[in-house]
Amino acid sequence: ARWTVQDGWAESSVLPYGPLQLSPAAAVLHYGQEIFEGLKAFRHADGSVWTFRPEANAERMQRSARRLALPELSAEDFLASLRALTAADEPWVPEPTGEESLYLRPFMFASEEFLGVRASHTVDYYVIASPAGPYFPRGVQPLVVWITDEYARAGAGGTGAAKCGGNYASSLLARRQAVENGADEVLFLDSETHTGIDELSGMNVFAITRDGRVLTPSLTGSILEGVTRASVLRLAQDRGLEVAEQRLVMSEVLEQLDSGEITEMFACGTAAVITPIGSFMAHGGTWTVGDGGSGETTLALRKELTDIQYGRIPDRHGWLTRLV
Ligand code: PMP
Repeated sequence: ARWTVQDGWAESSVLPYGPLQLSPAAAVLHYGQEIFEGLKAFRHADGSVWTFRPEANAERMQRSARRLALPELSAEDFLASLRALTAADEPWVPEPTGEESLYLRPFMFASEEFLGVRASHTVDYYVIASPAGPYFPRGVQPLVVWITDEYARAGAGGTGAAKCGGNYASSLLARRQAVENGADEVLFLDSETHTGIDELSGMNVFAITRDGRVLTPSLTGSILEGVTRASVLRLAQDRGLEVAEQRLVMSEVLEQLDSGEITEMFACGTAAVITPIGSFMAHGGTWTVGDGGSGETTLALRKELTDIQYGRIPDRHGWLTRLV
Protein backbone atom coordinates (compact mmCIF):
# COMPACT_ATOMS: atom_id res chain seq x y z
CA ALA A 1 0.00 0.00 0.00
CA ARG A 2 1.28 3.44 -0.76
CA TRP A 3 0.41 6.55 1.20
CA THR A 4 1.29 10.12 0.27
CA VAL A 5 0.94 12.99 2.69
CA GLN A 6 -0.97 15.21 0.27
CA ASP A 7 -3.33 12.62 -1.13
CA GLY A 8 -4.01 10.20 1.71
CA TRP A 9 -4.17 6.60 0.52
CA ALA A 10 -3.20 6.64 -3.15
CA GLU A 11 -3.68 2.93 -3.52
CA SER A 12 -3.93 -0.05 -1.25
CA SER A 13 -3.31 -3.58 -2.34
CA VAL A 14 -1.92 -6.95 -1.38
CA LEU A 15 1.09 -7.72 -3.55
CA PRO A 16 3.24 -10.84 -3.86
CA TYR A 17 6.34 -10.59 -1.69
CA GLY A 18 9.23 -9.16 -3.67
CA PRO A 19 11.68 -6.27 -4.04
CA LEU A 20 10.56 -2.65 -3.82
CA GLN A 21 11.20 0.00 -6.43
CA LEU A 22 13.03 2.80 -4.66
CA SER A 23 15.04 5.76 -5.92
CA PRO A 24 18.69 5.78 -4.76
CA ALA A 25 17.85 9.29 -3.50
CA ALA A 26 14.82 8.10 -1.47
CA ALA A 27 15.01 10.08 1.77
CA VAL A 28 14.85 7.01 4.01
CA LEU A 29 18.17 5.73 2.64
CA HIS A 30 19.96 8.89 3.75
CA TYR A 31 18.11 10.29 6.75
CA GLY A 32 16.58 7.19 8.26
CA GLN A 33 13.01 8.52 8.34
CA GLU A 34 11.41 5.15 9.03
CA ILE A 35 9.23 3.51 11.67
CA PHE A 36 7.87 0.01 12.16
CA GLU A 37 5.79 -2.27 14.33
CA GLY A 38 5.79 -5.98 15.16
CA LEU A 39 2.77 -8.16 15.91
CA LYS A 40 1.85 -11.81 15.63
CA ALA A 41 -1.16 -13.62 14.20
CA PHE A 42 -2.10 -16.69 16.24
CA ARG A 43 -4.22 -19.58 15.01
CA HIS A 44 -6.67 -20.94 17.55
CA ALA A 45 -7.76 -24.57 17.78
CA ASP A 46 -10.99 -23.81 15.83
CA GLY A 47 -8.97 -22.48 12.88
CA SER A 48 -9.72 -18.77 13.45
CA VAL A 49 -6.81 -16.31 13.42
CA TRP A 50 -6.32 -13.57 16.01
CA THR A 51 -3.87 -10.86 16.88
CA PHE A 52 -2.93 -9.36 20.23
CA ARG A 53 -3.75 -5.76 21.23
CA PRO A 54 -3.32 -4.26 17.73
CA GLU A 55 -4.80 -0.95 18.89
CA ALA A 56 -1.76 -0.55 21.16
CA ASN A 57 0.57 -1.09 18.20
CA ALA A 58 -1.51 1.32 16.08
CA GLU A 59 -1.23 3.99 18.77
CA ARG A 60 2.48 3.40 19.20
CA MET A 61 2.96 3.69 15.44
CA GLN A 62 1.12 7.02 15.54
CA ARG A 63 3.41 8.24 18.34
CA SER A 64 6.46 7.02 16.40
CA ALA A 65 5.14 8.78 13.28
CA ARG A 66 4.80 12.09 15.14
CA ARG A 67 8.35 11.84 16.46
CA LEU A 68 9.78 11.00 13.02
CA ALA A 69 7.74 13.70 11.21
CA LEU A 70 5.79 11.03 9.32
CA PRO A 71 2.02 11.08 8.75
CA GLU A 72 -0.14 9.14 11.20
CA LEU A 73 -1.98 6.09 9.95
CA SER A 74 -5.43 5.69 11.50
CA ALA A 75 -6.01 2.70 13.76
CA GLU A 76 -8.71 1.57 11.28
CA ASP A 77 -6.32 1.63 8.32
CA PHE A 78 -3.66 -0.08 10.41
CA LEU A 79 -6.02 -2.91 11.35
CA ALA A 80 -7.40 -3.09 7.79
CA SER A 81 -3.85 -3.61 6.48
CA LEU A 82 -3.25 -6.46 8.95
CA ARG A 83 -6.58 -8.08 8.05
CA ALA A 84 -6.02 -7.84 4.30
CA LEU A 85 -2.56 -9.36 4.45
CA THR A 86 -3.42 -12.08 6.95
CA ALA A 87 -6.47 -13.09 4.89
CA ALA A 88 -4.24 -13.43 1.80
CA ASP A 89 -1.57 -15.32 3.74
CA GLU A 90 -4.01 -17.39 5.79
CA PRO A 91 -2.51 -20.75 4.72
CA TRP A 92 0.80 -19.56 6.18
CA VAL A 93 -0.57 -19.07 9.68
CA PRO A 94 0.85 -22.11 11.52
CA GLU A 95 -1.29 -24.66 13.33
CA PRO A 96 -1.29 -24.02 17.09
CA THR A 97 0.80 -27.07 17.92
CA GLY A 98 3.72 -25.26 19.53
CA GLU A 99 4.44 -21.57 19.86
CA GLU A 100 4.26 -20.78 16.17
CA SER A 101 2.67 -17.75 14.61
CA LEU A 102 2.61 -15.47 11.59
CA TYR A 103 4.79 -12.46 12.35
CA LEU A 104 3.43 -9.18 10.96
CA ARG A 105 5.76 -6.27 10.30
CA PRO A 106 4.05 -2.97 9.37
CA PHE A 107 6.51 -0.24 8.38
CA MET A 108 6.45 3.27 6.98
CA PHE A 109 9.26 5.17 5.33
CA ALA A 110 10.13 8.37 3.50
CA SER A 111 10.19 7.56 -0.21
CA GLU A 112 10.49 11.05 -1.72
CA GLU A 113 13.48 11.49 -4.02
CA PHE A 114 15.66 14.40 -2.92
CA LEU A 115 18.95 15.17 -1.23
CA GLY A 116 18.54 17.66 1.60
CA VAL A 117 17.55 17.47 5.22
CA ARG A 118 13.81 17.90 5.63
CA ALA A 119 10.80 15.67 6.21
CA SER A 120 9.73 13.78 3.11
CA HIS A 121 6.38 14.60 1.53
CA THR A 122 5.95 11.11 0.13
CA VAL A 123 5.69 8.13 2.38
CA ASP A 124 5.20 4.43 1.73
CA TYR A 125 3.46 2.07 4.13
CA TYR A 126 3.79 -1.69 3.80
CA VAL A 127 3.18 -4.77 5.90
CA ILE A 128 5.12 -7.98 5.43
CA ALA A 129 4.16 -11.32 6.94
CA SER A 130 6.47 -14.18 7.79
CA PRO A 131 5.78 -17.48 9.57
CA ALA A 132 7.65 -17.51 12.88
CA GLY A 133 8.69 -20.66 14.67
CA PRO A 134 9.02 -20.80 18.45
CA TYR A 135 11.71 -18.44 19.73
CA PHE A 136 13.13 -21.38 21.70
CA PRO A 137 12.81 -24.52 19.55
CA ARG A 138 14.40 -26.61 22.32
CA GLY A 139 12.43 -25.14 25.22
CA VAL A 140 12.81 -21.87 27.08
CA GLN A 141 16.46 -21.09 27.79
CA PRO A 142 17.59 -18.28 30.11
CA LEU A 143 19.46 -15.43 28.43
CA VAL A 144 22.98 -14.33 29.19
CA VAL A 145 22.90 -10.52 29.07
CA TRP A 146 25.88 -8.24 28.51
CA ILE A 147 25.68 -4.82 30.21
CA THR A 148 27.21 -2.26 27.89
CA ASP A 149 29.07 0.58 29.61
CA GLU A 150 30.16 2.02 26.27
CA TYR A 151 27.11 2.58 24.11
CA ALA A 152 23.68 4.12 24.63
CA ARG A 153 20.66 3.26 22.58
CA ALA A 154 18.84 6.57 22.98
CA GLY A 155 19.40 9.97 24.52
CA ALA A 156 17.18 12.53 26.22
CA GLY A 157 14.93 14.23 23.68
CA GLY A 158 15.92 11.60 21.12
CA THR A 159 13.92 8.85 19.48
CA GLY A 160 14.22 6.16 22.18
CA ALA A 161 10.47 5.93 22.77
CA ALA A 162 9.77 5.61 19.02
CA LYS A 163 10.03 2.35 17.14
CA CYS A 164 12.30 3.64 14.40
CA GLY A 165 15.08 1.93 12.50
CA GLY A 166 17.66 4.42 13.74
CA ASN A 167 17.40 3.15 17.33
CA TYR A 168 18.31 -0.32 16.16
CA ALA A 169 21.14 1.04 13.98
CA SER A 170 22.63 2.53 17.15
CA SER A 171 22.28 -0.75 19.06
CA LEU A 172 23.82 -3.14 16.51
CA LEU A 173 27.46 -2.65 17.46
CA ALA A 174 26.73 -3.04 21.17
CA ARG A 175 24.77 -6.21 20.47
CA ARG A 176 27.60 -7.62 18.37
CA GLN A 177 30.02 -6.85 21.19
CA ALA A 178 27.72 -8.67 23.60
CA VAL A 179 27.72 -11.75 21.37
CA GLU A 180 31.52 -11.58 21.01
CA ASN A 181 31.70 -11.57 24.83
CA GLY A 182 29.64 -14.75 24.97
CA ALA A 183 26.25 -13.20 25.76
CA ASP A 184 22.92 -13.54 23.95
CA GLU A 185 21.73 -9.96 24.34
CA VAL A 186 22.85 -6.49 25.35
CA LEU A 187 21.39 -4.34 28.12
CA PHE A 188 21.43 -0.57 27.71
CA LEU A 189 21.68 1.81 30.63
CA ASP A 190 20.06 5.22 30.59
CA SER A 191 22.14 7.68 28.61
CA GLU A 192 21.86 10.50 31.18
CA THR A 193 23.58 8.88 34.14
CA HIS A 194 24.64 5.47 32.76
CA THR A 195 23.38 3.91 36.00
CA GLY A 196 19.71 3.00 35.43
CA ILE A 197 18.43 -0.02 33.52
CA ASP A 198 16.76 0.95 30.23
CA GLU A 199 16.10 -2.16 28.11
CA LEU A 200 17.60 -4.80 25.84
CA SER A 201 17.99 -4.16 22.11
CA GLY A 202 14.50 -5.54 21.43
CA MET A 203 12.90 -6.33 24.80
CA ASN A 204 11.82 -4.64 28.03
CA VAL A 205 13.25 -5.85 31.36
CA PHE A 206 11.60 -6.98 34.62
CA ALA A 207 12.85 -8.03 38.06
CA ILE A 208 10.93 -10.00 40.71
CA THR A 209 11.88 -9.66 44.36
CA ARG A 210 11.88 -12.39 47.00
CA ASP A 211 8.80 -10.80 48.57
CA GLY A 212 6.93 -10.97 45.26
CA ARG A 213 7.23 -7.44 43.90
CA VAL A 214 7.38 -7.13 40.11
CA LEU A 215 9.57 -4.21 39.02
CA THR A 216 10.27 -2.67 35.62
CA PRO A 217 11.94 0.59 34.57
CA SER A 218 9.50 3.48 34.20
CA LEU A 219 8.83 5.02 30.80
CA THR A 220 11.37 7.80 30.87
CA GLY A 221 11.25 8.57 27.17
CA SER A 222 14.31 6.57 26.24
CA ILE A 223 12.73 3.10 26.30
CA LEU A 224 10.09 1.58 24.10
CA GLU A 225 6.62 1.27 25.62
CA GLY A 226 6.28 -2.45 24.99
CA VAL A 227 2.85 -3.98 24.51
CA THR A 228 4.12 -7.13 26.24
CA ARG A 229 5.45 -4.98 29.12
CA ALA A 230 2.01 -3.44 29.69
CA SER A 231 0.35 -6.88 29.49
CA VAL A 232 2.81 -8.42 31.96
CA LEU A 233 2.17 -5.59 34.45
CA ARG A 234 -1.54 -6.36 34.21
CA LEU A 235 -1.18 -10.14 34.50
CA ALA A 236 1.14 -9.74 37.50
CA GLN A 237 -1.40 -7.45 39.19
CA ASP A 238 -4.14 -10.00 38.47
CA ARG A 239 -2.06 -12.54 40.37
CA GLY A 240 -2.09 -10.27 43.39
CA LEU A 241 1.56 -9.31 42.96
CA GLU A 242 2.62 -5.78 43.75
CA VAL A 243 3.92 -4.10 40.60
CA ALA A 244 6.02 -0.94 40.31
CA GLU A 245 7.38 1.06 37.42
CA GLN A 246 10.45 2.75 38.82
CA ARG A 247 14.06 3.63 38.21
CA LEU A 248 16.15 0.46 38.59
CA VAL A 249 19.79 1.24 39.34
CA MET A 250 21.96 -1.43 37.74
CA SER A 251 24.54 -1.61 40.54
CA GLU A 252 21.76 -2.02 43.15
CA VAL A 253 20.09 -4.72 41.07
CA LEU A 254 23.41 -6.61 40.84
CA GLU A 255 23.81 -6.34 44.64
CA GLN A 256 20.24 -7.56 45.11
CA LEU A 257 20.99 -10.53 42.87
CA ASP A 258 24.01 -11.39 45.01
CA SER A 259 22.02 -11.01 48.25
CA GLY A 260 19.05 -12.99 46.92
CA GLU A 261 16.73 -9.99 47.27
CA ILE A 262 15.92 -10.25 43.57
CA THR A 263 15.08 -13.83 42.68
CA GLU A 264 13.97 -13.65 39.04
CA MET A 265 14.52 -11.43 36.05
CA PHE A 266 13.12 -11.65 32.58
CA ALA A 267 12.93 -9.81 29.28
CA CYS A 268 9.77 -9.47 27.25
CA GLY A 269 8.63 -8.52 23.77
CA THR A 270 6.43 -9.72 20.95
CA ALA A 271 9.12 -11.96 19.43
CA ALA A 272 10.57 -13.54 22.57
CA VAL A 273 7.31 -13.34 24.60
CA ILE A 274 8.68 -13.65 28.16
CA THR A 275 12.24 -14.89 28.41
CA PRO A 276 14.10 -15.56 31.67
CA ILE A 277 17.42 -13.80 32.20
CA GLY A 278 19.88 -16.33 33.64
CA SER A 279 22.89 -14.11 34.19
CA PHE A 280 24.51 -10.75 33.53
CA MET A 281 28.03 -10.10 32.31
CA ALA A 282 30.00 -6.86 32.26
CA HIS A 283 33.65 -5.83 32.30
CA GLY A 284 33.49 -6.11 36.11
CA GLY A 285 32.31 -9.74 36.37
CA THR A 286 29.29 -12.02 36.11
CA TRP A 287 26.12 -12.22 38.19
CA THR A 288 23.70 -15.15 38.28
CA VAL A 289 19.96 -14.57 38.57
CA GLY A 290 18.46 -16.95 41.13
CA ASP A 291 19.90 -20.38 40.34
CA GLY A 292 20.51 -19.36 36.72
CA GLY A 293 17.45 -21.24 35.51
CA SER A 294 13.92 -20.16 34.65
CA GLY A 295 12.02 -18.61 37.56
CA GLU A 296 8.64 -19.96 38.63
CA THR A 297 6.73 -16.65 38.34
CA THR A 298 8.43 -15.87 35.02
CA LEU A 299 7.29 -19.18 33.56
CA ALA A 300 3.79 -18.82 35.00
CA LEU A 301 3.40 -15.36 33.43
CA ARG A 302 4.75 -16.69 30.15
CA LYS A 303 2.29 -19.58 30.14
CA GLU A 304 -0.65 -17.35 30.96
CA LEU A 305 0.22 -14.85 28.22
CA THR A 306 0.65 -17.50 25.54
CA ASP A 307 -2.49 -19.34 26.71
CA ILE A 308 -4.45 -16.11 26.14
CA GLN A 309 -2.81 -15.50 22.77
CA TYR A 310 -3.57 -19.02 21.49
CA GLY A 311 -7.11 -18.97 22.87
CA ARG A 312 -6.46 -21.74 25.40
CA ILE A 313 -7.90 -19.70 28.27
CA PRO A 314 -10.53 -16.93 28.27
CA ASP A 315 -9.42 -13.53 26.99
CA ARG A 316 -10.63 -11.76 30.14
CA HIS A 317 -9.10 -8.40 29.20
CA GLY A 318 -10.42 -8.33 25.62
CA TRP A 319 -6.87 -8.30 24.24
CA LEU A 320 -7.55 -10.39 21.13
CA THR A 321 -8.82 -9.08 17.78
CA ARG A 322 -9.96 -11.52 15.12
CA LEU A 323 -8.17 -11.19 11.79
CA VAL A 324 -9.56 -14.12 9.81
N1 PMP B 1 12.04 -2.60 23.43
C1 PMP B 1 12.51 -2.58 22.17
C2 PMP B 1 13.69 -1.75 21.85
C3 PMP B 1 11.86 -3.35 21.17
O1 PMP B 1 12.32 -3.37 19.92
C4 PMP B 1 10.73 -4.14 21.52
C5 PMP B 1 10.05 -4.98 20.49
N2 PMP B 1 9.05 -4.24 19.80
C6 PMP B 1 10.29 -4.10 22.85
C7 PMP B 1 10.96 -3.32 23.78
C8 PMP B 1 9.07 -4.87 23.28
O2 PMP B 1 7.92 -4.31 22.72
P1 PMP B 1 6.63 -5.21 22.41
O3 PMP B 1 6.30 -5.91 23.65
O4 PMP B 1 5.59 -4.22 22.00
O5 PMP B 1 7.01 -6.14 21.31
